[in-house]
Amino acid sequence: MSVHKTPGGQMTRDRYAELKRILEERRREIVSEVHDKIRDVRTEGANSPTHGVLDAAETSEADIQDDIEFALIQMKAETLHKIDEALRRLDEGTFGYCFECGEEISERRLRALPFAVRCKDCEEAREVAELRERQTARRSGGFLLDMN
Ligand SMILES: [Zn+2]
Repeated sequence: MSVHKTPGGQMTRDRYAELKRILEERRREIVSEVHDKIRDVRTEGANSPTHGVLDAAETSEADIQDDIEFALIQMKAETLHKIDEALRRLDEGTFGYCFECGEEISERRLRALPFAVRCKDCEEAREVAELRERQTARRSGGFLLDMN
């Protein structure tokens, strides 16, 4: 373990351990949420006969609720997949670096947004650029209308 090579060649072992901890913590959270949800759905299903026969409206409401639960579980499963992907990239040494400038994304930012691909500065710069682009497009659109 102690002679394990530093992933990516430049990431410190501390940062690697911290990022791994962040991702694995998130993973555990989601796994337990999914388990709770599945248990809830089962418990509700087991209890429903004691409430008597559901009328049609109640049944469809329960169906919708089941659909929502199912969609939530599916969403969490996708997030789990993303976390696995991130863990894989972490081992390759490509996780936690800004897509734009290649700088390390702060651990604080990754804790809040584990799938962030840009550092805070680049993300803000991008948002400003997008806003400016939209404003320019609107202005030149108005200008073209004036010309007509
Ligand atoms: Zn950046």
